[in-house]
Amino acid sequence: MPEPIASTERPRAPVPTDPIVGIDLGTTNSLVAYCFDSGPRVLGGGSGGAIVPSVVRFHPDGIVTVGDAPRRARAAFASETVASAKRLMGRSARETAEFARGFSVPVVEGPRGIAAFAIAGRTVTPHEVAAEVLRELRTVAEADLGTQVRRAVITVPAYFDDAQRQATRDAARLAGLEAVRIVNEPTAAALAYGIGQTRRAERIAVYDLGGGTFDVTVLDIVPGEDAGTGADCFQVLATAGDTALGGDDVDRAVARRWIEADPALAAADHDRAALVEAAERAKVALSDGASVRVEAGVSAGVRTLALTRAELDAVCAPLVARTLEACARALRDAQTTVAEIDRVVLVGGSTRLACVREAVARFFGKEPYAALDPDRVVALGASVQAAIVAGGRRDLLLLDVIPLSLGIETVGGAVAKLVMRNSPMPARAHERFSTSKDGQTSVRIHVLQGERELAEHCRSLGTFDLRGIPPMPAGIPQIEVAFAIDQNGVLSVTAVERRSACEASIQVVPSYGLTQEEVDRIERESLENARADMTLHRVIDLRVHSELDLKWIGEALARVRTALDPSYVADLERAMSDVRERCDAAARDPRSVEPDAFNAAKQALDRLSMKVHETAIADTLRR
Ligand code: ADP
Ligand code: MG
Repeated sequence: MPEPIASTERPRAPVPTDPIVGIDLGTTNSLVAYCFDSGPRVLGGGSGGAIVPSVVRFHPDGIVTVGDAPRRARAAFASETVASAKRLMGRSARETAEFARGFSVPVVEGPRGIAAFAIAGRTVTPHEVAAEVLRELRTVAEADLGTQVRRAVITVPAYFDDAQRQATRDAARLAGLEAVRIVNEPTAAALAYGIGQTRRAERIAVYDLGGGTFDVTVLDIVPGEDAGTGADCFQVLATAGDTALGGDDVDRAVARRWIEADPALAAADHDRAALVEAAERAKVALSDGASVRVEAGVSAGVRTLALTRAELDAVCAPLVARTLEACARALRDAQTTVAEIDRVVLVGGSTRLACVREAVARFFGKEPYAALDPDRVVALGASVQAAIVAGGRRDLLLLDVIPLSLGIETVGGAVAKLVMRNSPMPARAHERFSTSKDGQTSVRIHVLQGERELAEHCRSLGTFDLRGIPPMPAGIPQIEVAFAIDQNGVLSVTAVERRSACEASIQVVPSYGLTQEEVDRIERESLENARADMTLHRVIDLRVHSELDLKWIGEALARVRTALDPSYVADLERAMSDVRERCDAAARDPRSVEPDAFNAAKQALDRLSMKVHETAIADTLRR
């Protein structure tokens, strides 16, 4: 018989086994929260819960430390300490070259071309760094809840693409956590504010300026009765932002200003880190007061540095202007105006800057709403979403949006967009396509993500072949391509040929999470696509159209040959064989065909063939 154990611990609200926590995995700071029956709370030490700086130090002896200690020691151990790793999450080394300078450790090309850090002879990927932060949060949560934590809802900036979301999932897995849902940060913030507050429909703008990312989201909160679902409904109308803009930029700009005034301050590499760290202290201290002095230990000794409110405002002005441009973009995408925004919600530590609050208030024409702590609101909202997933909060229903348009490649390398950016999730869309060649029995579907018009400028998500189409003339098969995006943003693409009911489909796995072989294949394919330049497309198009022309001219000529002048027939047949030879050559190797000469031959045939077509039509009418 097990003995009951007498407990001296403070009574705890009951926590189910296998709870789902909410995690704000921030660029600068990370938090974990849990939604108790009494409401959400940030877990961990202190009255407001633990804020864990997203700073990881990889000691040479293999020990890894996370949070406050490595953050404080960051300047002294710059070459072993990674901060703001989230800026590089799921991105290639090539894409992120511009941010590389911002890190105190070298940014190198990691496995599969992704950006990674070189630390003490090791290559550490950003998601491995994030995994260390998540492991720390898991420890914090388990200590607070007194039970094992295996599942979490994790937030990401609204502008994160599939690869970045997948990197976040992978980080969770490395930390022993299943990411049951990935939620946009502004949506989570809205969830935190929405609890039990909505009596009427409201349109809200969430302005989130953190350490490394900026997001603005326009969303509607529709009370249960109005939505007809009996549950409060959060509908995101539009998002805009910048994955490379935040308080870190303010700190660096302030440090730059000091160095410009006295270049001797940055005599050594690690001086820069010390100055950036001092700049942040000065910035935070300026929340109240007109000027501040801070000390920074640089290699030339301890220096006192000054910063005034006016200087800080000047440094912030261009960054704030960029955020307001994104606000205008989001309003435009949501087809709304500032006048229709009922409430502006401030999220992120950088919204504590007075100049940010003032600029946001001016832009929206109303005082921003900041009842909840901007540092904690995302984590609290994530825990509310966790409670919804766990089934504990059926009174809330979450709709989210697709951050980038999705479509397929069509003939000639153009893009047909099926699902537009900012469509709510889950989403479905379908469109009819056909073949471009007679007797074509298979069609390749190339799934793309992005806003550009040409496939080669979009991100390739994958390809698949629809095979077994019965041979039919070009343009006759009816190929229906359907997109379905589930609540987690996983995209399924299905193609069906309606006459024969042959079908093929793909579940899009973002290139980031693929096996080495798959990544190699997709990389090779995307390289091949890039090389298939416009000349090639033109030759291919010319061949497709010429073959149809030859077929129709041949049919007309067979019917009315005797009614035509023999010298015209001879000219026509010469022009036909000229075009046919070029088509055959293009079929063997399109690179061997010169498109201008091909086009001239095709046009000559077009002109000559008018007579045979007219004669054939007249013949048909006579019968
Ligand atoms: P993230 O979401 O990127 O992790 P946070 O929301 O935690 O970021 O915000 C961190 C940023 O907020 C940092 O750049 C920090 O310097 C800044 N910050 C925190 N407190 C203040 C303050 N009082 N005044 C100005 N900036 C602040
Ligand atoms: Mg944040």
